[in-house]
Amino acid sequence: MIRVLILGSGSIVPTRKRFATSIYIDSGSHKILLDCGPGTIDKMRTTNINPWSIDSLLVTHFHIDHISDLLPLLKLRAYSEKGEIVAEPPSLRIYGPKGLIEFLKYTIDQNIFLRYLKDKIGYHRYVEIYEMGQDDVKENGRIKIYSKRARHELGLNYRLEIDDKIIVFSGDTAFDTSIANFAKDADLLIHECSYPKTLLVGEHTSEEDLAQVIMLARPKRLLITHLYPAWTGLEGELVRKSSEIYKCRIYIAHDLLDISL
Ligand SMILES: [Zn+2]
Ligand SMILES: [Zn+2]
Repeated sequence: MIRVLILGSGSIVPTRKRFATSIYIDSGSHKILLDCGPGTIDKMRTTNINPWSIDSLLVTHFHIDHISDLLPLLKLRAYSEKGEIVAEPPSLRIYGPKGLIEFLKYTIDQNIFLRYLKDKIGYHRYVEIYEMGQDDVKENGRIKIYSKRARHELGLNYRLEIDDKIIVFSGDTAFDTSIANFAKDADLLIHECSYPKTLLVGEHTSEEDLAQVIMLARPKRLLITHLYPAWTGLEGELVRKSSEIYKCRIYIAHDLLDISL
């Protein structure tokens, strides 16, 4: 069984039910985070998830609502749960788009205010960094990670094959039916739907765009996430419009939604 726990289901604009992006996946042998937006660590603690147990972090892109808890996550790993400095912190693999190495260089290594994370804490000792691009694949233990360029800044879509399950995550993306092929046979397609069509701004997906994607992708289950406040109170409408086009189990993400696959 694979547990998918939504830690953050929103955007940079917080609502009572949704803030930022972060998804925790527990397959037993692997503990994975998809994105690490603000509030991720706090939500891990309040749901009894051990932040030291994460072995793989997949970053879709560098927008703040997807990455801002990376710095505290890197630092806390150098300590024990009791707050003692540990000699050998648990290692963490970080996968991300091309630019991840430079992002860490400018954010930490060459930043006079934060480079203590490199010089004193020595985060490079326990972090392995993997940049991915179009049609890349990486294998680690029982996970296979595929990446594809998303239509959003330097972003990626990910496809994870874990044991016998397939989870596909769009990250942030403009309308793009090419993800349908990438999501072939997915047990769970996690797709953004930032705004209703009439309010759509930026490189994002509306409910009409999403309908076309799912009609082609035909996932076993669909989890709709990255909802801006405009969707608050209209979630039922979003489910109705999606299920008119394609019938499957549809979830509208809210923070702390817990799914078993
Ligand atoms: Zn976002
Ligand atoms: Zn974004």
